[in-house]
Amino acid sequence: MKYRAFLKSPWFLGVTFTIILVGCYTVPETGRSSLNFISSGEELSLGISEFEKLKQQSPISTDPVLNRRLQTVGRRIAEAVGDALPGAEWEFVLFDDSDTINAFALPGGKVGVYTGIMELASTDEELAVIVGHEIAHVTARHGSERMSHGMVAGLSQVLLGAAVADSDNRELYMAAFGIGTAYAVMLPYSRNHELEADEIGIIYAAKAGYNPEASIEFWMKMNLVKGGNEPPEWQSTHPSDLNRIDRLEAMMPRVKPIYEKNKIRYQ
Ligand SMILES: [Zn+2]
Repeated sequence: MKYRAFLKSPWFLGVTFTIILVGCYTVPETGRSSLNFISSGEELSLGISEFEKLKQQSPISTDPVLNRRLQTVGRRIAEAVGDALPGAEWEFVLFDDSDTINAFALPGGKVGVYTGIMELASTDEELAVIVGHEIAHVTARHGSERMSHGMVAGLSQVLLGAAVADSDNRELYMAAFGIGTAYAVMLPYSRNHELEADEIGIIYAAKAGYNPEASIEFWMKMNLVKGGNEPPEWQSTHPSDLNRIDRLEAMMPRVKPIYEKNKIRYQ
C-alpha cells in the first residue's frame, strides 16, 4: 500500500480515532485537554510502589521542626487539591540530603522533599510553592502524558514502518511504560509542563491559604542557586527562571483573591 493510501485507510483512521477518543484527559484548573492512555489506577499503584522503594533506599530526616513544617504544609495543600486526585493516599516524606535542592511527587499523592530545598524555602509560604508545584505535576498527570506521547511516537513508527509489521502492541506499550517509569522521576519535564505546574501549584497554595507572592521570592532565590549537583527536575527550570517569574507576576491578580478568601480558614 502506498504511504498516502495507507494514511487514508479505514484501519489507520480507526486506530487514530480510537487513540484520540480514549486518550484524553482534562487538566484540573487550566482545563487543557491532554493526551493520556494510562489509567489513573495504574498510575496510582505505580506511584505507591515506587515511593516505597525510594523510602527504603534513601535516608529519611528525623528533624522534628522540619518534619512538622512539611506535614502542616502538605496537609493543607492536599485539602486544596480536593477531588482532583481521586484515590489519593497522601504522604509527605522529608529525605535527609542537604546537598539535594529538589523535591518530587509521585501518583497517589506521594511527595518527597529533600532537606536541601527545605533549607532554601525558609518560610511555609515558599514550601507551599514547592509542594504545590510538585502536586500539580501529579494532578495534571504530566508523567503519563509524556509516556503517552512516547507511545504515540512508538505506535506511529509501527504503523508507518513495514519492517516492524508484526510488532506486538502490548510489548510496545510495556516498553514505553517501562521507560516512562524511570522518566517520571529522572528526566526533566518539558518547559510547558513546568509553567503549567507553576500555574496550578500557586492556585493550590492560594487555596491552602498561603500567599502566592512567595512564589516570586522563591524563584528569585532559585535563580541564584545555580550549578552544583541539582537533579533534573529543578535544574531544568533554570534557563527560564526569569520568564517563569514574569508569568507568576502576571497571575497575581487572579490568585491573590483566592488567597484572601482562603487565608481566614487557617488563621
Ligand atoms: Zn516541575
